[in-house]
Amino acid sequence: MTEETKDLHPLSYIDTHCHLDGEEFDADRDEVVQRAREAGCAAICLPAIDAKSCRSVLDTCSRYPGYCYPMLGLHPEEVRQDWREQLADIKQIISLTSHLSSLTSHLSPLSSHLSPLLAIGEVGLDFYWSREFADEQLQAFEEQVRWSVEMRLPLMIHCRKAQNELVAILDRYANDLPGGVFHCFTGNEQEARQLLRFPRFVLGIGGVLTFKKSHLPEVLPAAVPLDRIVLETDAPYMAPVPMRGQRNESAFVRHVVSRLAEAYGLSEEEVCRQTTLTAQRVFGMKV
Ligand SMILES: [Zn+2]
Repeated sequence: MTEETKDLHPLSYIDTHCHLDGEEFDADRDEVVQRAREAGCAAICLPAIDAKSCRSVLDTCSRYPGYCYPMLGLHPEEVRQDWREQLADIKQIISLTSHLSSLTSHLSPLSSHLSPLLAIGEVGLDFYWSREFADEQLQAFEEQVRWSVEMRLPLMIHCRKAQNELVAILDRYANDLPGGVFHCFTGNEQEARQLLRFPRFVLGIGGVLTFKKSHLPEVLPAAVPLDRIVLETDAPYMAPVPMRGQRNESAFVRHVVSRLAEAYGLSEEEVCRQTTLTAQRVFGMKV
């Protein structure tokens, strides 16, 4: 993304969480990226969910250098008996990726083929469907929190029906955490405040904000300063109204922007400007 094109679009934003490597996009990924660019999306961040998807995330990012950025980790719903092997595999991929990007960062023609690794993610806890692997989830999450601290990479966090357990783990590392995103936040004011106690962390807000029954339009302005919010799709899931039920994509973020602008009583330009600055701050992005 060049400065010129960024300036041309009045509503330039970053989609901080999009599963663009998913098979749902195999048939028309180029068109999806094209529509995102036309809608003002300046960059797309891709979270992995397991070792296999680390490879597809890196592969997809290499097709759109400087536009799609990888995040690598083990998703709580993918934690099973083999979680230790998965983590070992993922850690190796992370080391190779960071090594490659540090090797090529001085060689501009080569580095243009690699977007730097943005974060460890998506990681977290999910006790919504089952607690079958609850212990394994807790251990896998804590291990990846340690990676975040050691590697100074922010966390892309997924949390469902497990906020107290999640906060208890983060508390142990509170002074050393480089920051991150609590993605797909859907909680109440108290839950928002509990998460924002972690100073370099922000909330990821997407399609749920636009749902008829969502309390977020009241909860967010009451408890969350706009500079603690980043935008996301979680595509292909969570399409905003009026696209609800369809496959989500980064171009649809503009519906979230307009709802957020309404909720905070600000212009859409201001929402885009502020959330972009926040994403750049959290991830150390230069786009
Ligand atoms: Zn996700």
